[in-house]
Amino acid sequence: RVKHGGRGKACFFDAEMDEATRARRLIESELRHAITRHQIHLSYQPILDAHSGVISGYEALMRWNRPGHGICEPDVFIPIAEESGSIVQLGEWVLQQACSEAARWPHPLTIAVNVSPVQFMLPNLAERIETILEETRLAPDRLEIEITEAALFRDRDRVMTTLQRLRSLGVHIVMDDFGTGYSSLSNLRTFPFDKIKVDRSFTGMLEHDAAARSIVRAIIGLGHSLGMPVVTEGVETETQRRIVVEEGCAQVQGFLLGKPDIEPSIKFAARRNFLSPTADADALQISR
Ligand code: C2E
Ligand code: MG
Ligand code: MG
Ligand code: MG
Repeated sequence: RVKHGGRGKACFFDAEMDEATRARRLIESELRHAITRHQIHLSYQPILDAHSGVISGYEALMRWNRPGHGICEPDVFIPIAEESGSIVQLGEWVLQQACSEAARWPHPLTIAVNVSPVQFMLPNLAERIETILEETRLAPDRLEIEITEAALFRDRDRVMTTLQRLRSLGVHIVMDDFGTGYSSLSNLRTFPFDKIKVDRSFTGMLEHDAAARSIVRAIIGLGHSLGMPVVTEGVETETQRRIVVEEGCAQVQGFLLGKPDIEPSIKFAARRNFLSPTADADALQISR
């Protein structure tokens, strides 16, 4: 590719770019074909009831099997996809895929899907989700949409309209990564959230940092007084699990309880009695 330089001289564009920019451009163009080339898949991480240890649902996490690079994690490619706009296409695929997968799970297992701030700028996001729910025949109350605060700072009116429509369908809205970034308390009051997810950075500090525990306690208290259950993510140790349960957290998620996996059923079978031997294994059998 050539570009005309400032002095009217043609030079090789690629040669002007630094390594990082070049790598970024490459990812950007590869991502445009990632879906049609079947390189994208979802991993499912369980979310458990904090008291019974029973799995209440899974969070869908996007993975990219990038040729020559192996499995690429979202922190690497999602920011690039957001900037280039391909997150819209990827996010649509994720919703579609996650809902049709979850529709085959037994009641009342839920599916949590992360939706990018860029997707929230679409005028028809709620309608798209409604159509996907109809097509996949997933009951709306089994879908949880995870939204980060970053989405609330763009076009607040549009986000509000979208969230209200989703909520009126029966879809649940989760405030993800709470406690980092802006964490404006008024957002919790203004927007129709059903649940708060404490950012995993706090969970990691719980054992050694009294302040982290105070913050988690405060968030759980805030959630309770606003009628929103709180889920803690990033639970890696038994001590962390014990602390958040003591603090009144409703649900837990983390490597201790189950890593993201392409096969939710495997983890489910293996972990069923892990936390609570008395928990009824009942009807929660994944049929495939
Ligand atoms: P998130 O929504 O906060 O997802 C939780 C992340 O924490 C996941 O990383 C998960 O693998 C990781 N995690 C879970 N338990 C533990 C633990 O015990 N310890 C540690 N250290 N990490 C744990 P992942 O899959 O790399 O995703 C990173 C972020 O990328 C997600 O954060 C989410 O913001 C975004 N993301 C993932 N999938 C999608 C997607 O389909 N669409 C959009 N827009 N964003 C996505
Ligand atoms: Mg990661
Ligand atoms: Mg999430
Ligand atoms: Mg999170």
